[in-house]
Amino acid sequence: DVIQENYVRNVRNCIFSIVYPTPFKSRVRLVAVSEEVLENILDLDRSVKGTSDFLQFVSGGKVLLGSVPLAHRYGGHQFGSWAGQLGDGRAHLMGVYTNRHGERWELQLKGSGKTPYSRNGDGRAVLRSSLREFLCSEAMHYLGIPTSRAASLVVSDDDVWRDQFYNGNIKKERGAIVLRLAKSWFRIGSLEILAHSGELDLQRRLLDFIIQEHFPSIAMNDSNRYLEFFSTVVSETANLIALWMSVGFAHGVCNTDNFSLLSITIDYGPFGFMDSYDPNFVPNTSDDEKRYKIGNQANVGLFNLSKLLQALKPLLDPRQKQLFTELFKTKLGFLGENEDDSYLIAFLLKLMEDTKADFTMTFRHLSEITEDELKELHIPEEFWALQDLAKHKLFSEWVTMYLLRLNRNKGDSDTKRRTRMTTVNPRYILRNWMAESAVQKAHLNDFSEVHLLQQILQHPFQKQQAAEKAGYSLRPPVWAKDLKVSCSS
Ligand code: AMP
Ligand code: MG
Ligand code: MG
Repeated sequence: DVIQENYVRNVRNCIFSIVYPTPFKSRVRLVAVSEEVLENILDLDRSVKGTSDFLQFVSGGKVLLGSVPLAHRYGGHQFGSWAGQLGDGRAHLMGVYTNRHGERWELQLKGSGKTPYSRNGDGRAVLRSSLREFLCSEAMHYLGIPTSRAASLVVSDDDVWRDQFYNGNIKKERGAIVLRLAKSWFRIGSLEILAHSGELDLQRRLLDFIIQEHFPSIAMNDSNRYLEFFSTVVSETANLIALWMSVGFAHGVCNTDNFSLLSITIDYGPFGFMDSYDPNFVPNTSDDEKRYKIGNQANVGLFNLSKLLQALKPLLDPRQKQLFTELFKTKLGFLGENEDDSYLIAFLLKLMEDTKADFTMTFRHLSEITEDELKELHIPEEFWALQDLAKHKLFSEWVTMYLLRLNRNKGDSDTKRRTRMTTVNPRYILRNWMAESAVQKAHLNDFSEVHLLQQILQHPFQKQQAAEKAGYSLRPPVWAKDLKVSCSS
């Protein structure tokens, strides 16, 4: 159901509103494209990025023939409370594309102007946050984590005013647009708004549509289909959050309107990858209560699923704990079962917390160091995260247990173990300081670091010379210690 009402208001009895993007007034330029997305998702030749048609389309200046741009109506629980109608306040769904692999992808512009759901917002997004979304969603894809994708990033010379740190210091920034893609942009909040306003017919139709389109394993004539849908979302969301945890990713704003029904990572805002291991890590400066700290994501995931359940009602089957153990067993190179595995994992995390060892590099260095080097407690300098960890007085005890456990792996060798572990423990993640450095240069129209990061993050598990040269596997620089990112975008 679609309604045509091109002004900000409370909307009822529809799922989408027809609304066109607002083109920028000034010149636009293409900052970056993902050629992989162009070629493998959109069946386009990479040379398309040089055409003015492309630039016009990805900057909201031109709508493809036959396309009817839509803004989606959804609601959500924000920071634990029902927030009412939210919706696409600065995004336009430009169409659905079925590619040569038979995959359906929804193309959405973000930062493309006001919609009926803009509330007090200006419908725009600034370069800073758009660049972070572009880079991080692609980086997550290459880490093997379900996510929306990004095809392009454009920047304009249009002024957009933002109070970045909510301290009254309003600054002029530049408007930007990301063309992002997902198999579906429906969220928990898509169903919640219909339940909350009693639009149950519409809710049933939407849910059947979603199941039919995106959950092929659920039969439409199955009377238990809503239950199966819910249990699939539960386990897939648990899986997603476990994957986030396994790379030290904190989403930052885990509201139900930012939780995808397809359990992919969406709506990149004040996210962060943790540097030092810290279960209390909060990437979002405006999250005063630390609700969305990294160690609380499984809990808020459950909260969000319980809100989905409120609209659907079946059984809750949380499998986070088990999945968490499985993923960390893989990160540590364990094969088979052992009753002490959870203990070994928890023990290591505690050592990491106490020594503030770097989360990503501790696991990476464990993947690269040989058992002999570990056995002698001789840690070469290149494994700086392990050197930090080794300062703990219980380090040698953990190592002894760890090596004993590795010995129990059947049919394994040290080479095999290291090869296996380097494919699950990334060497490069988009750390805040790296994004910030790219943002600083981008503000001066030097997009070289965006491109460098984009290249490197396509192979997060492979050691790359350019990345080493840029210091991306080194300790974060001192200036990055107190770096915070805010919701303002
Ligand atoms: P978020 O916390 O970024 O997921 O956004 C929450 C809601 O605010 C969503 O409905 C967004 O569409 C909306 N929103 C955020 N920024 C803007 C903006 N600049 N203009 C209009 N709507 C916005
Ligand atoms: Mg959002
Ligand atoms: Mg956002």
